[in-house]
Amino acid sequence: MVDLLCPHCKTEIDEHEANRCLDAWVWKAVFGLDARPDPEGVYGFVRFKKGWGYGEPVPYYSTDMEASWRVIETANDDNAMTHRWYNARGRTSFHHIGFGFGKKVGARASTMQLAVCRAALKAVGAT
Ligand SMILES: [Zn+2]
Repeated sequence: MVDLLCPHCKTEIDEHEANRCLDAWVWKAVFGLDARPDPEGVYGFVRFKKGWGYGEPVPYYSTDMEASWRVIETANDDNAMTHRWYNARGRTSFHHIGFGFGKKVGARASTMQLAVCRAALKAVGAT
């Protein structure tokens, strides 16, 4: 049983929506990089380490397809598996991603990007 709470809003991982504090959580837990709330209030969270685009927005992992693929590539291992499930009408419904750091984990979400973030955080055992 995985019980992981967002360090920013204290929401349980499987309940967490795709938003900026989830992006910042992934940035820290998966990539080991620091973020801080955007003092300008524009991007939600910004990078907090020189050499990684200091002050630029944390990547939009939970909503941007390209950014979410960087999460997969980082958390990936030889047992990597990515699944998409489709409902009877052939439209994408829920996604399950199992991969990461020698662990097999799963997550469901309304989008692939969100499922990737949830699964990656479970894989690293993020807190
Ligand atoms: Zn949060």
